[in-house]
Parts: sequence; C-alpha cells; structure tokens
Amino acid sequence: MTIGRFGLRRRQYDFPPYRPPSEANSLLLRVTRGCPWNRCTFCSMYKGMKFERRDLEEVLEDISMARELYSERVRTVFIGDSNSLVLKTEDLVKILNGLYASFPHIERVTSYARAKTIAKKPLEELKKIFEAGLNRLHVGLETGDRELLAEIDKGATPEEMIEAGRKAKEAGFEYSLYVLLGIGGEEKWEQHARGTAEVLNQIDPHFIRVRTFIPQPNSQLYEAMEEGKFHPASPETVLKETRLLLKELQVTSQFLSDHISNLVPLHGKLPEDQEEMIRLIDEVLKGLQEDRLLREELEARRHLTSL
Ligand code: SF4
Repeated sequence: MTIGRFGLRRRQYDFPPYRPPSEANSLLLRVTRGCPWNRCTFCSMYKGMKFERRDLEEVLEDISMARELYSERVRTVFIGDSNSLVLKTEDLVKILNGLYASFPHIERVTSYARAKTIAKKPLEELKKIFEAGLNRLHVGLETGDRELLAEIDKGATPEEMIEAGRKAKEAGFEYSLYVLLGIGGEEKWEQHARGTAEVLNQIDPHFIRVRTFIPQPNSQLYEAMEEGKFHPASPETVLKETRLLLKELQVTSQFLSDHISNLVPLHGKLPEDQEEMIRLIDEVLKGLQEDRLLREELEARRHLTSL
C-alpha cells in the first residue's frame, strides 16, 4: 500500500501535488506550495498557484498526523513542492529532525530543488541540511545547451547548473538530474544533446533521468506549438537525440527512463551499459521504418497531456 494516501486523505493533511516516480511509496510531506520561479515555458505544473512557504508549525503538525498512522512503516519521505531548499536552512533542519524523530526506520529523504537555489546557498548550509538527513536532490537540468536554457527560461546558465551539481555532491547529496528529451523541437536536437552531455559530464550526477517532452496545455510552449512556432520533435528525432546524448556521455551515473512519456525503456549504469542502450535505440529506429503500428504507438505518446 502506498504510504500516506488513505488515512491522511481523511484528515487535514496537505499533500504535494507532484513527486518523482521513484517516490511512489514514500510519505509525501509538503513544506512549500507551488514554485517560486514558475517561469519555465514548458511547465504547467504550478501555473495559477501562488507560491508560499508553509508555516513551520503546520508542517510539524502534518508530521505528527502521519506518525500516528505510519510511524513504523515509513522508510522513505519525499518533501514538496518544487524547491524545498528555498526554506530557511534552520527551518528545513527542524523539519528533518521532526521526521527522523517520528519515523524510526527512515532510509531516505528526498526533495525537488532548483539549481540556481543550490548555487546560491552557502556550502556550509547545504552540508547542514544533508547532515540533518535530506539525502537526495531531484533537479531539473532539462538541457545543458545555453541557447535552449535561455529560450525555455529555466533561470540558470550551464555554468550555474554545473556549479549547483558539484556543490550538492560536495555537500554529500545524491544528485538526480532530469533531462527533457525533445525540448529543442525538431530543429535543435543536436545542440540539445551535445550541450546536455557537456554539462552532465562536468557534474557526473548519481542519476540521469530522461523524460520526453510533451507540450502541456496551459504552458507557453504549448501555445507556441499551437501557433506553429514550435515544432515538436518526431519519434525519430527524439531517438537520434537520445542516441547522441548517450554516445557523448562520459559519466558513472545510473541512466533511467522511468517515465511513461519515454519511447524506449532505457535503464543502465554508465559507462558499462552504454553500448547496449545504444543498440536498443538502433533497434527501435529500424523498427520505426518497417513497422507502421510501432510508429503509430510512439507518435500517440504525444497526446499524453496530463503528465
Ligand atoms: S519546471 Fe520546475 S522550476 Fe520550472 S516552473 Fe516548473 S516547477 Fe518551477
């Protein structure tokens, strides 16, 4: 049973609306609401939601509520919403202390974070947060290409992405970076793949997680697509881009495509599984030329608009 969904739903418990797939069985704890940036042109997640930090006492009350129901069962916790590191370090440490005091069997606590916030936070504060028990950060890189990062208004340069990654690793965190396949559309796939590999190579994160970009209603890129100004990448283009990205990577990361949007189930450790993953992509690229049903199936993924 998924922790935290049933008993807590009946109480006044506040859930973060999004979490990584790998946190499906985690206790979900909301410490902020919305996104303090909220400007990425591809993102519709928190549009219309005013960003706020939750009151510390309210968060601690949620922890008490969860403890009554799940004290012995919680092994992993995910902290939301989109960038918990914007909290004051002392508040985040109090929340982490509350979690570890309430759930004796915690093995992992994770959170989303923005690279820019990590880059700005003093290393000593990051270390304090890590030592208080936040073990893993999930961060959206999306692309390492300078031009694309500016176009999608990610709010961080390649240099800041690299600084954030290195600093988070130095503080002790497991670092999990998301890459948005297809974010360069039909035209900019090659610079997207090369730029992303360059940044990833400089960071060597613990995890590289790929998602395939599907324009979401209520986002600027969706509107641009509707107006004919953004041309979504075809399945072939996304596969060629993924192939090039893999080819260019010189990292020791876990590579995962743990999301329904992706065209090929690529999972492996780099560099050991690099060639096998490339072989799998080549197989699907070949299949696309010969198998109409496969093409239709992969093209249909573009309509998964409630992700
Ligand atoms: S992608 Fe992340 S940082 Fe960008 S607007 Fe969405 S939630 Fe905020």
